[in-house]
Amino acid sequence: MANSAQSTAQTIPLWHALSVEEAARALDVDFVRGLTAAEAGARLQRHGPNALPEAKRRPAWRIFLDQFADFMILVLLAAAAITGVIGDPEDTIAIAVIILLNAVIGFIQEYRAEKAMAALKKLAAATTRVRRNGRVLEIPTEALVPGDLVLLEAGNLVPADLRLLEAARLKMMEAALTGESHAVEKTAEPLPGRELPLPDRYNMAYKGTVVSYGRGAGIVVATGLATELGKIATLLAGAEEVKTPLQKRLARFGSRLAVAVLAICAIIFVAGILRGEAAVLMFLTAVSLAVAAIPEALPAVVTISLALGAYRMVKQHALIRRLPAVETLGSITIICSDKTGTLTQNRMHAEAFYADGVHQPPPSEPTQPWTRLYRALALCNDAGYTKAGHPSGDPTEVALLEAAECAGAIKAELEWQLPRVAELPFDSERKLMTTLHRDGDGVTAYCKGAPEALLARCTKQLTGAGEVLLQSATLLAIADAMASEGLRVLAVACRRFAALPETLEGVEQELVFLGFTGLMDPPRREAKQAVAECKSAGITPVMITGDHPATARAIAQRLAIIEDGAAVMTGVELAALTDAAFAQKVREIRVYARVDPAQKIRIVQALQAHGEFVAMTGDGVNDAPALRRADIGVAMGRGGTDVAREAAHMVLLDDNFATIVHAVREGRRIFDNIRKFIKYAMTGNSGEIWVIFLAPFLGLPIPLLPIHILWINLVTDGLPGLALAREPAEHGIMQRPPRPPAESIFAHGMWQHILWVGLLIGAVSLLTQAWAYYTGSAHWQSMVFTVLTLSQLGHVLAIRAERASLFSIGVFSNRLLLAAVALTFLLQMATLYVPVLNSIFKTQPLSAAELVLCLALSTIVFWGVELEKWAIRQGWLYQNAREDQPRHPPVGSA
Ligand code: ATP
Repeated sequence: MANSAQSTAQTIPLWHALSVEEAARALDVDFVRGLTAAEAGARLQRHGPNALPEAKRRPAWRIFLDQFADFMILVLLAAAAITGVIGDPEDTIAIAVIILLNAVIGFIQEYRAEKAMAALKKLAAATTRVRRNGRVLEIPTEALVPGDLVLLEAGNLVPADLRLLEAARLKMMEAALTGESHAVEKTAEPLPGRELPLPDRYNMAYKGTVVSYGRGAGIVVATGLATELGKIATLLAGAEEVKTPLQKRLARFGSRLAVAVLAICAIIFVAGILRGEAAVLMFLTAVSLAVAAIPEALPAVVTISLALGAYRMVKQHALIRRLPAVETLGSITIICSDKTGTLTQNRMHAEAFYADGVHQPPPSEPTQPWTRLYRALALCNDAGYTKAGHPSGDPTEVALLEAAECAGAIKAELEWQLPRVAELPFDSERKLMTTLHRDGDGVTAYCKGAPEALLARCTKQLTGAGEVLLQSATLLAIADAMASEGLRVLAVACRRFAALPETLEGVEQELVFLGFTGLMDPPRREAKQAVAECKSAGITPVMITGDHPATARAIAQRLAIIEDGAAVMTGVELAALTDAAFAQKVREIRVYARVDPAQKIRIVQALQAHGEFVAMTGDGVNDAPALRRADIGVAMGRGGTDVAREAAHMVLLDDNFATIVHAVREGRRIFDNIRKFIKYAMTGNSGEIWVIFLAPFLGLPIPLLPIHILWINLVTDGLPGLALAREPAEHGIMQRPPRPPAESIFAHGMWQHILWVGLLIGAVSLLTQAWAYYTGSAHWQSMVFTVLTLSQLGHVLAIRAERASLFSIGVFSNRLLLAAVALTFLLQMATLYVPVLNSIFKTQPLSAAELVLCLALSTIVFWGVELEKWAIRQGWLYQNAREDQPRHPPVGSA
């Protein structure tokens, strides 16, 4: 049976010419109930997942091998091998082991990051609503099979090629496939003509296109590579690796630094030879130093930190879809947010009514306008109840349904008496919704929507004494007064027809006004605090809503987004402004009302032209261009459409404004920690270079053996360096201005720090060496080795905070780091006191006095950096560090 479906599917590709029944038969599916789970499973086996091929992720062995794909490491391995053959194989083995350990650490990190990315991708994977076995289910889009019945609604990305079964005013944007930029209206009727070109097959919906309007359903006729998109697609766009701005800058910087380090190593090599050192030893020393000091891994460290950071952000309900967003979050200067559901709870409740010249409560003997108002609220409504009896549907409609039923207008009963025969669905451009009901021998239309939109289409109003001429201005004033209480006001009207009109075009005209209802959607509890946090972090919150300006103003004031008397711009005003005129105003406006989603892109562009870094939220089809254009496009995970999610950089799993602010905080923390790692690693590396480079000038022998250099690099960068990523957010992280995106990573005193602390590390080590060497201690090399390692441990503890002292942030507030430091210390002690390691590392056990001296000297760097931070706190150093003003004063400030 199933085989016949497959063979039929291959021999009859002209699905558009078939009737729905024929198509269903060809695909062997009951087009009412859909496939059974067993049949779907079998077909999935046969056809494979509904996915297009992507660039393959690196397998684990490849990640491991890539750890050696560094020219200097290969040179070092080769040199070590050669010295092993001609000289001491023990050294060679030790070097190889250290390089291997280094690779293992690198591998573990990268592997974790790849896993985190794969997990994020899985979380972000698309789902599709299908009907299987008579029940509507949401399944992963990848699990779709030919014969599945797919349900479509506005905002969906079509998940596979479909022969449409049902098309209720269904319109598609097919640009992805055909290049056609206008929406195409679809039908479910069979189309004659076998040779119809793709764009004319109006009863088909193709994978990758978008439902821009209406509702529909279709049978899957092709999945994955068999779809029209699959035939032309090679690799999915999402598969390419995007480099973040920081990675690009670090890669450029790294290659310049590499040249400098190589030059220094060459000098060290030549100087050593001239002083009569053995050429082989000098070569190994120079190459080991190059391996240790060239920051090859920095871009990888950035990826790892961002990926692991992004993974952790899921717990805080922010799902990152594009990795660079983690880095750019910290630069956001403006967050443009929707109101409903993001700043408010989206739990509406009808609080106010008005009809027949009176506000609620209705007269004890309800007059005609009151009963018809409630009837309209129940009938012109798509909300319903789940099997368990919970209301379901759009929160606005649910609130209206509950209000109507409370007043005795029971939807199910009314629909039975007055069945719905046609409808004009709600859309945010018209801001109206109308349903038509058979009513005795005629038809009654009930219409509800935004007061100004609906009153403009009314000519009369209903009173207890019958229909009278509409008093538009009075009614608008009443609606405004209700809105300024923070209520979402809907106007309700009706119209009687003798019969169902042939076209629905003129239905929303000459209406009779019935009344108003006002819905309260309380602000989210955490929103006010999040708004305050935004402001202290130099970020301006901006509210954009489809609601009435008075409602918007009331809610914005409650959340402290604006103060009394601040300007609110409406979509109509915005449309009337030229780009130049809008550019002048845009930075003062913090609330936009009655805005079409399509206008959001103008707001983003105008803000960006002022150099602002904009996050923009959105959930609908029309929001996608603005989300794409914003520096961080933020889609809603609960209420949002596929299209918005696809366009976004980040998805809010809880649709909550506060989550954006948390994500900004987390982004800043991750960026800070990357900075700290770079600071730590580069300072340590420069310290190592100084030691080896300067020793000869002080008449000292080469302070370290190649294996010491490699060891220091392994243990200091390895464990403590990685634990820096766990550093909690610094105190005051949300009290400083956003980081300008073009700002150098070395800003705020970092390069000065690398220079002077590097020199300090070098100086302390050389001092140790000089003292020990000239006092005739045979242990001078072990002592330098120890001081150099331990100084770096002191350094890592001191740079945990950029300004605050370690003692004020708490020694124990990053236990992982503390453990890493302790372990590294123990490992270093092992190289001194474990006899086997003595022979490998050519070290000697230090006497108690020597050890105490080394420990004391090693703390100098720690105290030095604490002193630097103290001077920063006093305002003596790096004056503009972190204290500088935002590039732009907050919007709205003078
Ligand atoms: P926000 O932009 O704050 O998220 P929103 O997206 O909910 O608001 P829209 O859904 O575009 O805004 O609604 C705009 C206006 O349309 C509302 O203020 C209301 O007057 C009207 N409206 C909303 N829902 C309905 C509905 N179901 N039926 C009729 N009119 C509606």
